[in-house]
Amino acid sequence: MKPRFANALILKLGPGSQLRPRLRALLAVSALALAMAGVTTQSVAQGAAHAAGAATNPTANSGASGKATESKHPSNAQLADPKIEARVERLLRQMTLDEKIGQLVQYNDTGDAPAAAEPGSPAEAAKKHELAAINPETTTQVNAKELAATGRLGSMLNTVGAERTNMYQHLAVDKSRLHIPLLFGADVIHGFRTIYPVPLGLGASWDPDLVADVSRMSAEEASTAGVRWFYSPMVDISRDPRWGRTTEGAGEDAYLGAAMARAYIRGYQGDDLSKPGHVAASVKHFAAYGAAEAGREYNTTDMSEIRLRQVYLPPYKAAVEAGAATIMSAFNSLNGVPASANPFLLGKILREEWGFNGFVVSDYTAVMELTNHGIALDAATATRKAINAGVDVDMMSHFYDAELPALIRSGAVRMSVVDEAVRRVLRVKIATGLFERPYAEGAEVTAAVAAHRPLVRRAAEESFVLLKNDKVAGGAAVLPLGAASKKVALIGPLADDTAEMVGAWAGAGNDHDTITLRQALEERAKQTGGALVYAKGTEIESSSDAGFADAVQAAQAADVVILALGESGAMSGEGGSRAHLDLPGNQEKLLKAVAAAGKPVILVVFSGRPLVLNWAAQHVSAILEAWFPGTEAGNALAAILYGDVAPSGKLPMSFPRAVGQEPLYYNQFPTGRPATGIDLSKPPDGEDRFVSRYIDVPNDALFPFGYGLTYTSFSFSDVKISKSSVALAQALANRRTPLVEATATVTNTGNRAATDVVQCYVRNLGASIEQPVRSLKGFKRVTLAPGESKQVSFDLGFNELSFFNLESEATIEATHYTVWIGDSSKADQGAHFEVTASAAAARRK
Ligand code: BGC
Repeated sequence: MKPRFANALILKLGPGSQLRPRLRALLAVSALALAMAGVTTQSVAQGAAHAAGAATNPTANSGASGKATESKHPSNAQLADPKIEARVERLLRQMTLDEKIGQLVQYNDTGDAPAAAEPGSPAEAAKKHELAAINPETTTQVNAKELAATGRLGSMLNTVGAERTNMYQHLAVDKSRLHIPLLFGADVIHGFRTIYPVPLGLGASWDPDLVADVSRMSAEEASTAGVRWFYSPMVDISRDPRWGRTTEGAGEDAYLGAAMARAYIRGYQGDDLSKPGHVAASVKHFAAYGAAEAGREYNTTDMSEIRLRQVYLPPYKAAVEAGAATIMSAFNSLNGVPASANPFLLGKILREEWGFNGFVVSDYTAVMELTNHGIALDAATATRKAINAGVDVDMMSHFYDAELPALIRSGAVRMSVVDEAVRRVLRVKIATGLFERPYAEGAEVTAAVAAHRPLVRRAAEESFVLLKNDKVAGGAAVLPLGAASKKVALIGPLADDTAEMVGAWAGAGNDHDTITLRQALEERAKQTGGALVYAKGTEIESSSDAGFADAVQAAQAADVVILALGESGAMSGEGGSRAHLDLPGNQEKLLKAVAAAGKPVILVVFSGRPLVLNWAAQHVSAILEAWFPGTEAGNALAAILYGDVAPSGKLPMSFPRAVGQEPLYYNQFPTGRPATGIDLSKPPDGEDRFVSRYIDVPNDALFPFGYGLTYTSFSFSDVKISKSSVALAQALANRRTPLVEATATVTNTGNRAATDVVQCYVRNLGASIEQPVRSLKGFKRVTLAPGESKQVSFDLGFNELSFFNLESEATIEATHYTVWIGDSSKADQGAHFEVTASAAAARRK
């Protein structure tokens, strides 16, 4: 089994101890930054020792309450329960400073070695104890066991397994003075043992109920291993597929992203955090991490406040409104201020405006990285800036425990700030029922669960997007495969690789539980008497053509060819930014060689992001985007390829024609020189040059946002708005109920039943601030029998029709609206209405 926690790059170091090699490099950089500032990792360690000494000096509940920061309208009612508050206050009164700080400290499992303070350097101590008692990121001495037993550890990350979590929990509950349990958090991103599609694939399902169902399933599985807190959902909007973490989110759109964010929270937390099988969510990465410049991982983000509020914040806000118990502060800086020390994000927006009453955890070593960002010359300043900005829990930096005691003594950090952070953590621990049920619950799930396979298979089926499906000889579309396709050649490096079916961050999934396309098609061939010939052709990243001849031969002998090409899981996810978006290695060359055999080619693309598929789009018969489908990959693909199930996925991100178009998204702003009516497939020739365009590629996507085919066709008609005008005063006064209803008739014009995702787009013309050419404001999955019609309606109210003005207020002005209803962002059936001002107001305008 390949362990997948901690970004799929864990190196196991003795029982339970997990280290991420990628962060060694980071460590070197951070150590360098600290050294330049005159702080050695040794001195950071001494800080920790100092903190340990302070444990004997109780400073119970000194200072102001710090409660002023909490909003009057808490986002999570359960966390605001007065009974919980009374317990929190009782505990807080008994806590020493070290015990308080302990609640704000989070480490990985550091192994089994004793906690002795060693003479010599941390590196020497590490060697002696086989790294077991070392915080791997900072090389300072940390022994999670000792910290847990002495009340100086609040939570742990990516420590999973009933045995391991229970061992730590017993130390905290049985040995520590106040018996406060640990909270175990893990990156359960798209499944714990039974793996479902990567979140971008789930985004393509446009099915929030499905997302809630799979999330609930993974919460149930993981809580049997002691995990009660997920570092999920990742709701970062991404408009640039070069960014590898695109795979972890729901794509480019705020409205779709917000719907998915709510669904994850509903699935993980249910209606009551304390129920068995429910886990606390951590919404990440706050904020705007997905706007990393040039798609380069961890890079700067810089944008107007209007864009931040209109495009990037809505999914986080939706998750907070849905009751998310925790938020993770991001690695990136936003407009010059790192998100993990950003009072505007963590104070003004999150606490004051949104009333968030859970706790904020930093991303992995993000507090330490403030030194690399250059806004802190030393560990003390980084700590002060982070906690004062609103980062309650320090993940892995070893800064809070090392630095806070002295910062409190000097007054640089007020005791009330620490107290409030501790309250927030305790509220979540009490609300999740951790005090009553601290240990792993039920029979531990250690492999994919048979009863969960149908759900993850359906999730995979709904995630696939059919991008192309040409008619072949005989007049029928190449998919679904029919009787004429008896002999199938299955070719490609992703046709039979269990490990690569599950994507970048597949919890604790076991490879051998996964069904590949080859396994599923072989099974089907057995049942139907068909023939399947398999040839790998090449590797995912290779320049050797040695396997081409076999592949071409297999194609020549077949009725139809299925090519399984694409990225490896590790080419997306954290640290997976790419500057090229084509099929890696020599896969396109293989595709060309196989296509030259002249047989109908069905390309199945596995990828964590949109790829550039120009050649394929022109030359193969069918393209199915499969993302990374999870445990039931092969079975789900076979069901779609053979037509047991009709595809219903729609793109959650635009597929570009060239990397140079990025960031490419459908809801662009208009320009003063639009390229309307110009053939952009040809280079400019005269005046048509001086419009907003490229000279070498059209402006639009190869496959646009919201697009996806199926095995029938749908038509749209009768788009209507319930009113032709709405008074501005009413629009502004009425923020909860719909202002207009938009309806359309959708008809299945083909000859098989299928599901379409009906989408509603809105444009606002005439406002004081430029508005996008269209924005998604509603969607519904609709299943229709052949010939069946249905009226589909969308309520449009303040939320859907408002925009942010220069004062950062959501508002509506007296303007014109166009509404389109269809099944992609190119929907062209529209209707209009107006928001009208009073005659006097109109004259002033
Ligand atoms: C990632 C987070 C993740 C955390 C803990 C970080 O590197 O950015 O998404 O939750 O590690 O593993």
